[in-house]
Amino acid sequence: MYDDRSEAERQLLPLVVMLLTGAAVWLVVQWIRTAASKPEPWDAHWEKTLEEGDAPPVCEHCSAPYAETDWFCPGCGASVGAYNNYSPYLYLFSLGEGLRRGTSGAVPVNWLSVGGYMLLSLAFFFILAPIYWVMLWLNLSQHGRQASPGPAASS
Ligand SMILES: [Zn+2]
Repeated sequence: MYDDRSEAERQLLPLVVMLLTGAAVWLVVQWIRTAASKPEPWDAHWEKTLEEGDAPPVCEHCSAPYAETDWFCPGCGASVGAYNNYSPYLYLFSLGEGLRRGTSGAVPVNWLSVGGYMLLSLAFFFILAPIYWVMLWLNLSQHGRQASPGPAASS
């Protein structure tokens, strides 16, 4: 089948494929480098404030500003410190806050979030995990009824 090709053609084919692949990669890199950047979703005032560097951090839950040394948000009490997730004592508050969101808030009902809540509670609170699962199920059923009046919506 390949007998009609000469030895030079067989050696040239990988070189051509490599050159075409290299050209395609180079074109993609040039396309990304020359792409116009999208404007930020905030206006120029906030852009300038953010670039000054002395802007206070804000809580991701309630947008209240907090000091760099705070461990908890003064507005809502959420765990906000920069190192809370690494501190041997404070990470439990972050973990508890995440798990509490599963039992008290609107949780996206899909296999990843529900499975994540179940595995996380099992890993950290082994004995109490079944109690947490019941509370999670009650929350999911309550929010599922409020969110979807029709057939069950997933994802
Ligand atoms: Zn807050």
